[in-house]
Amino acid sequence: MNPPLPAPLMQMALRAEPDIFVLRQRGREVATAVGLEYQDQIRIATALSEVARDLVRAVGGADVAFRVAGAEEGSPVLRVELAPLRPFGPAGYEPTSGAVARLVDSLDLTPVDGVTVIRMSRRIPAHAEALTPQRLAELRAQLAQSAPASVLDELTSQNEQLIAALDEVRSQRDELAVLNEELQETNRGVLALYNQLSEELEETNRGVVALYAELDEKSAQLKAASESKSRFLANVSHELRAPVTAVIGLARLLADSASDPLTSEQARQVGLIRSSATDLLALVNDLLDLAKAESGRIEPDWTEVDLRVVFGQLRGTLRALATRPGVDLVVEEPPSPATLRSDETLLTRVLRNLLHNGLKFTEAGEVRMRADLVDGRWRIVVTDTGIGIAPDQHERIFEDFYQVPGSASSVGTGLGLPYARRLAMLLGGALRVASEPGRGSVFTLDLPVDGA
Ligand code: ADP
Repeated sequence: MNPPLPAPLMQMALRAEPDIFVLRQRGREVATAVGLEYQDQIRIATALSEVARDLVRAVGGADVAFRVAGAEEGSPVLRVELAPLRPFGPAGYEPTSGAVARLVDSLDLTPVDGVTVIRMSRRIPAHAEALTPQRLAELRAQLAQSAPASVLDELTSQNEQLIAALDEVRSQRDELAVLNEELQETNRGVLALYNQLSEELEETNRGVVALYAELDEKSAQLKAASESKSRFLANVSHELRAPVTAVIGLARLLADSASDPLTSEQARQVGLIRSSATDLLALVNDLLDLAKAESGRIEPDWTEVDLRVVFGQLRGTLRALATRPGVDLVVEEPPSPATLRSDETLLTRVLRNLLHNGLKFTEAGEVRMRADLVDGRWRIVVTDTGIGIAPDQHERIFEDFYQVPGSASSVGTGLGLPYARRLAMLLGGALRVASEPGRGSVFTLDLPVDGA
């Protein structure tokens, strides 16, 4: 069942042509009273007069009622019902399509008590004054008092509305033209910006391409330079080895008891020659090793290596170097089976280098080496309790000839660690350091079990 209809705000009879003007004018009044906007007032008034004209001609008129519906639900609409005086002919009535229907929110034909009523409605905006029952009663009283104006008055006001509507259309068209102009302007700006950006992008691209070409060229040059440096080092050290070895031999001969006796000053000088030549030979040998490792001329001789054997040899040979009374050299026994595929000579060189450094840079405590199998790889760790290395030096000590400034030892070339790291890589492993000044160092060599 339909909810009871709200009491009409106003009713009027539409019987003849002049009533059409009155209806139009009253419609606008009601629309104004309930708070419809100006444009909507004209729309509903126009729709009403169009429908009214049809009704007067086709069925001799109608009874018209204006109501406000939906006020309680917060979405009020102004609803106008036109109940025709007679039923429509067989052709019926079709106002629901076309221009009239577009003037209102809804326009429909509803049967009420056997009569087809034409119903149109328009939403009342939310900002309009609230239509409480009290306000509606006030409006009802106000509308009942206001007398309908004459046909001429309504015609005049209709004319004014028409002029206002035309003005509105014109000003909207002008605004549209301005907007269009602005839009075109913006478009031109965007296009110009786009062109400029694409040009800049192209320019940058060309720069990047050129830069890459230069980079390729430079890296080729660098590679060539590094190769010639290695070749030079290899040649020079090879050429130096024989004379330096000869100097050491001659110095040994001079100092030999079988030779003519030397004065003590001569003996001291020969001793100096011999020790300097020995240092030089060590440097030459290191350089030769490094040059060989760099040029990729070292081919590991892959065999089954037993870490216990390697550790045993190092324990024996390095004991002679561990001469400081407060420093212990501890080489732990690796867990068995301690085998891996590697090159025994190269591996021994890496470990000897690490142990040797540990002994060089430790005044008190111990130098320890141990091996563990971790996640399927051998991890050999050489720890010491020596002077340690500051974090910003951790990578630098692997650079050729680099020695930490102020580290006590004067013995050494700065080539041991870079050489050890290259060998570790050749063996498929990695060499890294963890250390803090004053807290000792930990060098870790990671090796695969089954070779590179
Ligand atoms: P060398 O020992 O011949 O100087 P290395 O390449 O073996 O050359 O070592 C480079 C530098 O790294 C050393 O001069 C030293 O300053 C630092 N270093 C290496 N091992 C240790 C260590 N165990 N403790 C402290 N400093 C070390």
